[in-house]
Amino acid sequence: MNFEYDVNLLKKLQYEDSFVKVAGLLGGDEYIKVARALLNNENATDEEIASATGLKINIVRRALYDLFGKSLISGIRVKDPKRGWYVYQWKAQADQVEAFLNNRKRKILERLKRRLEYEKAHNFYFCGTQSCVKRTFEEAMDLDFKCPECSNQLVPYDNSEQITAIEWKIKQLEREISLPHG
Ligand SMILES: [Zn+2]
Repeated sequence: MNFEYDVNLLKKLQYEDSFVKVAGLLGGDEYIKVARALLNNENATDEEIASATGLKINIVRRALYDLFGKSLISGIRVKDPKRGWYVYQWKAQADQVEAFLNNRKRKILERLKRRLEYEKAHNFYFCGTQSCVKRTFEEAMDLDFKCPECSNQLVPYDNSEQITAIEWKIKQLEREISLPHG
């Protein structure tokens, strides 16, 4: 469970175009390129996307099949008039993207709620070194109150700010998830 990771993920979810950001979460830069190409050219084929993005056709296909498997894009099979064989034309499914994002937010919400319970249920001990881990009282006792990472002493740590931050985030998420999307 990583609170910072969730917060950064949520920031990403808020600021970019939904379809592109979901693609980016799933497969990074290559998926982002494919997603942008799809938005720029509705009903594009594999080859058109490959030439628009400069990506290799097998990379484009892998991304497309993955997005298709997650219902984030639809594909229709059409006959290529020039060459006579069948090709797929792909299209972003905007409504599915919202459902996907909400589902993702629900999972983050669940994690944050578990995290909040954990934060409330324990007393924490910390050495003060930012890169080191905070320990529960039980853990700190097992370690003789000495940080195994930096050797500093583990002293009581007030996690009330952390608790407030998590509670605020939970409220915000609950509001976002309950909002109708238009
Ligand atoms: Zn330490």
